[in-house]
Amino acid sequence: MHWTTHVVVGATAGYLIDRPLPSLIVGFASHPLLDMTPHHDPDHEIGYVLDAVTGVGALSILLFNRLVRSEDRHRAILWGAIGGALPDTELLVKLFKDIETEDYMFPWHNGTLPHRQTHLSRSVILQTLLIVVMLSLAWLKFRHMQKKDS
Ligand SMILES: [Zn+2]
Repeated sequence: MHWTTHVVVGATAGYLIDRPLPSLIVGFASHPLLDMTPHHDPDHEIGYVLDAVTGVGALSILLFNRLVRSEDRHRAILWGAIGGALPDTELLVKLFKDIETEDYMFPWHNGTLPHRQTHLSRSVILQTLLIVVMLSLAWLKFRHMQKKDS
């Protein structure tokens, strides 16, 4: 699954949970579920670079956006995003040395658990829908909290 999707799903889970440790755990637990969901990994390095830049952009918004910071008083959004994103940091090793798939630590990266693939178009539709659903849930909570505060 794209790293950006892991960041968004983890962050949204954190926003809904609003407690740092459970958000980290749920974000982390979402990672293998998303990686085992059929998706399309980029065919070329440029796809990974674009995904990484988009994911870092999303993390930057979580860190520096005033509205997000004011809503995320317990830093649960950030911890959820970190939990969702963290497992893929092991994939960065391939930037520095040749590594075989089975050498990765996490079973959903090393082939022990299936890392299912599908067509690019299906993957884009699935990940877009997932992000829209997650952001819609966050929006519903945000609206609910706004009404509660007024
Ligand atoms: Zn992964």
